[in-house]
Amino acid sequence: MSAAGSESIRYDGTVVAGAQPESVLLPGHDVPLGRYTTVRRLLPQRPRRMVGAWCFVDHFGPDDVAGRPGMQIPPHPHTGLQTVTWLVDGEILHRDSLGSVQPIVPGQLNLMTAGHGIAHSEQSPPAHPPVMHGLQLWVALPEAARHGAPRFDHHAALPQVGADDARITVVVGEYAGVRSPAEMSSPIVGAQVDIGTDAPVALTLRIDFEYALLAMSGTARVDGVELAPGGLLYLGEGRSGTTVTTDGPARLFLLGGEPFDEPLVMWWNFVARSHEELVAARDDWAAGRRFGTVTGCVDAPLPAPEMPITRIKARDRHGRTVG
Ligand code: MN
Repeated sequence: MSAAGSESIRYDGTVVAGAQPESVLLPGHDVPLGRYTTVRRLLPQRPRRMVGAWCFVDHFGPDDVAGRPGMQIPPHPHTGLQTVTWLVDGEILHRDSLGSVQPIVPGQLNLMTAGHGIAHSEQSPPAHPPVMHGLQLWVALPEAARHGAPRFDHHAALPQVGADDARITVVVGEYAGVRSPAEMSSPIVGAQVDIGTDAPVALTLRIDFEYALLAMSGTARVDGVELAPGGLLYLGEGRSGTTVTTDGPARLFLLGGEPFDEPLVMWWNFVARSHEELVAARDDWAAGRRFGTVTGCVDAPLPAPEMPITRIKARDRHGRTVG
């Protein structure tokens, strides 16, 4: 009982000993992103701030973008995290300060590792498909990786595994022994679960991971709790598997990982460990230092917002302030 991480805090604030399964539906809320896109933010929430190293989960669409700009996110900086961009409809062109220029279409992964610092833009090309639908996810980098050099990786094909009447695409990390080629820095999984019928689907889980499910389309039930697009179903820890039932075809996304025990500060596009680190990152972006320049994007870089007057405190994964 003395091992770190053996204490668990349930969504209702109850402290329990040992890893516990839960089935808690966390409703998301709408947030504007760029000039033309509204996303449903599913993480962070209070007090569920993380699932494994996943610290930021936005679900956007399906949106009708025919004859419209689509996603238009001008150059902006990141530090201390990886961005995972995953589409089920549409197209986005990624540009970054390393010189990467990479279109992404459904079924492909754009993985940007910020390390100490990088800048990027994400924009629908002028000629794009009529529907935009996908996920924007952040993974917190652990201390050993967060000061490293930035990099960008595009994975055009990802491994799949069958489970009952489902096809599971392993986007990052490992699921049921099948490993994504994406280079991550903590034990983690992100996987799309495509379910074809209303037959129950047994998912293979690890008892040392915590998990959550979101619905991109369709409706699912786990432990009697109903999940539809717009919510995040937190499943807790200590499960070797779970059964998902749906009313018919559904597309879910499984997020999981080893509980992330480093307290974080998150502000704007930065993940760090202290208020002072956030101030330094903000000042570096404002002064044109550290993050480099995104070339080829016609839109002006996003200006750094003013820091809040109060100090931003580090919080652990349960939302408790630290230090
Ligand atoms: Mn970004």
